[in-house]
Amino acid sequence: MEDCIFCKIVEGKIPSEKVYEDDEVLAFKDINPAAPIHILVIPKKHISMLTDLKESDELLIGKIYTTINKIAKEQGFEEQGFRVIANCGKDSGQEVMHIHFHILGGKKLGAKIVG
Ligand code: AMP
Ligand code: ZN
Repeated sequence: MEDCIFCKIVEGKIPSEKVYEDDEVLAFKDINPAAPIHILVIPKKHISMLTDLKESDELLIGKIYTTINKIAKEQGFEEQGFRVIANCGKDSGQEVMHIHFHILGGKKLGAKIVG
């Protein structure tokens, strides 16, 4: 997808601090971290947002969550816990139109999910 920064990261045209990669999924550190641990997990395939998901994407999205589990174990923050957030559309403030899952942690997160 042209002009998609996350597609460019997948293609290696924009650098990123990679945390995990396989043929379908990529995880990298957020450039502007909102918490001590802030990792973005994306499918390599371009999907703009949650509302574009199709039934044929179900396995891929399941894999995103098992990858998050893998990353939490590998990076050693499984025990302390973390939060996963996916923004979708205008009201959520989604800035990058390539579906992504924020892993946030490394400190006690506020009880409020909505600020
Ligand atoms: P969202 O508001 O859910 O669309 O989040 C987009 C996230 O992408 C923000 O937390 C940004 O800091 C992050 N971001 C934007 N560009 C880059 C980049 N080149 N590398 C890593 N993270 C990025
Ligand atoms: Zn993309």
